[in-house]
Amino acid sequence: MREAGITLDVRTDFGRELKRRVDAYFETTGQPKHGGARMVRKAIGIFAWLGASWAAMLVAGTVFGTGPLVAALFGVSAGLAMAAIGMAVQHDGGHAAFAGTKRGNRLSAVALDFLGASSYVWKAKHGHIHHTYPNIVGTDDDISLEPLARMAPGQPRRGYHRFQQLYMWPLYGFIGVKWWLMDDFVQVAQGKIGETPLARPKGKEAWIFWGMKLVHGVWAVAIPVLLVGWGSALAFYLTAQFVMGVTLAVVFQLAHCVEEADFIVPETHEGAMRLDFSAHQLATTVDFSQDNRLISWFVGGLNFQAEHHLFPRISHIHYPAIAPIVRECCEEYDVPYKVHGSLGSALRSHYRWLRFLGRNDGNASTPHLAQPGVAQAA
Ligand SMILES: [Zn+2]
Repeated sequence: MREAGITLDVRTDFGRELKRRVDAYFETTGQPKHGGARMVRKAIGIFAWLGASWAAMLVAGTVFGTGPLVAALFGVSAGLAMAAIGMAVQHDGGHAAFAGTKRGNRLSAVALDFLGASSYVWKAKHGHIHHTYPNIVGTDDDISLEPLARMAPGQPRRGYHRFQQLYMWPLYGFIGVKWWLMDDFVQVAQGKIGETPLARPKGKEAWIFWGMKLVHGVWAVAIPVLLVGWGSALAFYLTAQFVMGVTLAVVFQLAHCVEEADFIVPETHEGAMRLDFSAHQLATTVDFSQDNRLISWFVGGLNFQAEHHLFPRISHIHYPAIAPIVRECCEEYDVPYKVHGSLGSALRSHYRWLRFLGRNDGNASTPHLAQPGVAQAA
């Protein structure tokens, strides 16, 4: 990576013991780590939800002559379904946790291309960069929304950031459109994500990249325009994109951009830093609403984000079962395990974190990382 001297390859007893206990859980219960038939049923259900919202909008517009307002209402439902596809289908597939076969995982990952975003770019951006370097300022592209917002210490603070805790919520709604229609193309054209090189998609990957952008445009925009006209079609599409963007962004922010999460600002550290992989993931990631089954289903286990960061190749359907194992191991090894009890408490923490960063320079890495067992500057 570009920050000289940061490595995340240290494996301590804590990391090894945690892995041993989680492996033992799967051995004792005889379950596969991937999602299997349960995930297939879930994926079918969520795709049916999206298909029904889309079809109902078209039927309402063509048969009953309803206008943009009704189309927008169906767009809300479609947007939630699209967010669920991203979080609970594609995300597992992109991490090779959906199915036991490479093909099954690739197919479910391509669900993202169906929504308009490139699974190829996502794999580099999320699967590699974000998962390896969460909350490392300057490398983790997912915490970079500059110049709109200051999400982490070490990023420049501008005058208008003092209101970011208010204006960012609606702006999250445009993140999806920005990623899908702009960032994918810009990052592929530039051949890099932030400072990390990105190879251009070739062969089959290039076909998927370009072909699926077209497929998305056809089902999401062209067919609705032909059947219900521009007004209703755009009302449906833009509402769906907005709802999806807000949902995806907020779920992400609650895991990494809250008061309890730690950040690393490489510039403030002198010399080499050696971080333990597991402890780093736990320091920078926060769970929420672990007991809420509806939220867990809808966000694809991303409310168990710590478990996901520790074991990204385990399907999210197993996270509620392995969370107590992780918690217990953390307590024994004195490693912080961070959870918000409710969605409301996590949302308030994100609000306060944005407010704090918009009004204070606070460029140093957060202090928890200096604790023994979490990370050491060597
Ligand atoms: Zn992930």
